[in-house]
Amino acid sequence: MTGAGAMATHAARLARRAAEVAVCLDFDGTIAPIVEDPAAARPLAGIVELLGPLADRYAAAALVSGRPATYLASHAAAPGVRYLGMYGLEEIVEGRVQVDRRLEAARPAVAAARRDLAADPGVLESGAHLEDKRYAVAVHTRRVADPARWAGPVGQAAERVAAAHGLEVVPGRMVWELRPQVRSDKGDAVRRVAAESGARRLVVAGDDLGDLPAFAVAAEAGGGLRVAVRSEEAPAELLDAADLVVDGPEGVRELLEHLLR
Ligand SMILES: [Mg+2]
Repeated sequence: MTGAGAMATHAARLARRAAEVAVCLDFDGTIAPIVEDPAAARPLAGIVELLGPLADRYAAAALVSGRPATYLASHAAAPGVRYLGMYGLEEIVEGRVQVDRRLEAARPAVAAARRDLAADPGVLESGAHLEDKRYAVAVHTRRVADPARWAGPVGQAAERVAAAHGLEVVPGRMVWELRPQVRSDKGDAVRRVAAESGARRLVVAGDDLGDLPAFAVAAEAGGGLRVAVRSEEAPAELLDAADLVVDGPEGVRELLEHLLR
């Protein structure tokens, strides 16, 4: 369903029950226009001002994104809004980043893996570079003299060390990242927002496939609203799963204005 009439009807229905509705919004492509340089992404003018009043009137207002929580909080600062980054693995709580307990619990294993990698003959001999990512450790061969020659020994060391410490290996181009097997998607994140705020319905808005798990949770709860943000790149699967399709962050802003009426 599209069009101004549908938007107003949905918004009026939800606004009447605002205290039992949580509003969860994606960042990139949803409240912030997509730009070439991801570090330059900023919310559309006039949208951040609506977030505080939404948080005030509704059970919760949250930004849910794959971005670090600090990015969300620093570029869309508004009172009472929740900032869930890394698909819910981190959140800003009282001004500080709170990381998923499961990740914190795995830090000793990550540190031990780092020590083992640093002492591994293949890693040592190749001159591979270790990157401490706090909740993960990565070993890079990009800067070694002959990366192709070392891919085997370094990759095998990564596998061996990860297995010894209960971590998983995520290989990339000339890099192996060892990290805890801890998963979160936007569905997990919005479920938490609903549970903690006592909301019984969810408004979720997103523009990409990563938003589908949040759509699913909103549907499960019933009575909410799944909002797909249309762009040239918007996947058909997301548009098909939506109750309402809006045009770009401008459309999201208009919806939020309706929700505040
Ligand atoms: Mg997005």
